[in-house]
Amino acid sequence: MELVDALLAIAGELADRDAPDSPAACMQLAESLAKAVDQQESALADLIGRVDVSGETRRWGLPSTQAWLRSRLGMRESRARERVTLARQRHRLPQVTKLLAAGELTYGYASTVAESVARLDDVDCAKAETLLLEMVDQGFSAGKVASFGRRIRDVIAEREGTETPDDDAQRGYEQSWITTTRSLDGGRYVKGWLNAEDAAIWDGTLAPLAKPAGPDDQRDLPERTAAALTSVLSGGQKATKVTVICDLDTLTGGDTPGRLTDGTPIPAEQARRIALSAGVSPLILGRGHVPLYLGHRQRFATAGQRQTLETLYPTCAVQGCEVPGILCEVDHVNGWTLGRSPTDIDQLALCCGWHNRFKHANAEQMRITRDSTGRYVYRILPPPTRTAPPTDYPQAA
Ligand SMILES: [Zn+2]
Repeated sequence: MELVDALLAIAGELADRDAPDSPAACMQLAESLAKAVDQQESALADLIGRVDVSGETRRWGLPSTQAWLRSRLGMRESRARERVTLARQRHRLPQVTKLLAAGELTYGYASTVAESVARLDDVDCAKAETLLLEMVDQGFSAGKVASFGRRIRDVIAEREGTETPDDDAQRGYEQSWITTTRSLDGGRYVKGWLNAEDAAIWDGTLAPLAKPAGPDDQRDLPERTAAALTSVLSGGQKATKVTVICDLDTLTGGDTPGRLTDGTPIPAEQARRIALSAGVSPLILGRGHVPLYLGHRQRFATAGQRQTLETLYPTCAVQGCEVPGILCEVDHVNGWTLGRSPTDIDQLALCCGWHNRFKHANAEQMRITRDSTGRYVYRILPPPTRTAPPTDYPQAA
């Protein structure tokens, strides 16, 4: 803490000073300062890594380390993701870790290597680290190293001359096959081959489900594909639908634009066209939001209630949580088990699966209020222990 305090004092002093007049001096100072910043990233990665494995953020109602970096350290999603990746891969990248700490490798290269190895097993990870660091030594730019990194499996195969078809290819290409290998933490690696016919079914089923859920959906294509597959396996895709929200006035020729559930505006004319197409449900609102009262003591929200909730909740009801509403679960604000409370729309909110479970397990940490539009806002209070808060970081600007 003393070192961090000293660093803060020095950084404050530096930030307060004007840059020298000489551009050459500025260049030199900037280069030295950038090196110092990168070494701080090394220390930051170590700290983030500790927090990450401990699960400490979950006690604070933050579903992930990335959510912590976003909401309490005010990082943009891409930066948070990059830092978590480095923090998680550090222990598998001993050379990168050592060089970054010593100021001999920039953070840009270190995070590029970390990103490249994230989906490799330990054996390939060690090979990839050596290969990518060789590229750094040869003066390749971080962007170039990143593009090698994206096809690192092929690069390793080329180097080792193992490009000849392996056992898998010897199965032939007639029959589809899938193997899964259990990993230690209960997860599974999946590997396989689909023949052309099965591949068409795969694409036709999963590709539409793997589209980004909205502007806040930061998952990459492999992550969205996995989510799409899981959704199909659990039968959840049957609930998939497209909803266009527009005023009655818009449908009858008005100019007010409609919108999708993720908030994307749709010009009035296009909204009218979409509202008439098959496979799309228009949700027409009168003045304000139309509440639907659909029965009492009904355990699950109806499709109509769900659609209305999606208009009210572009994201999870928990303040600061960015999970898109269309990926959220319907949450009964006062709990399902509190007697005869009706499943009325004004008792329901959308809440991501993680926060939904957190709310039920940690009711005392949830403060629930309603804003002026009638939307519920869940705020998470600090965990009820005597331990000091993990940070004094300012809230995101
Ligand atoms: Zn949430």
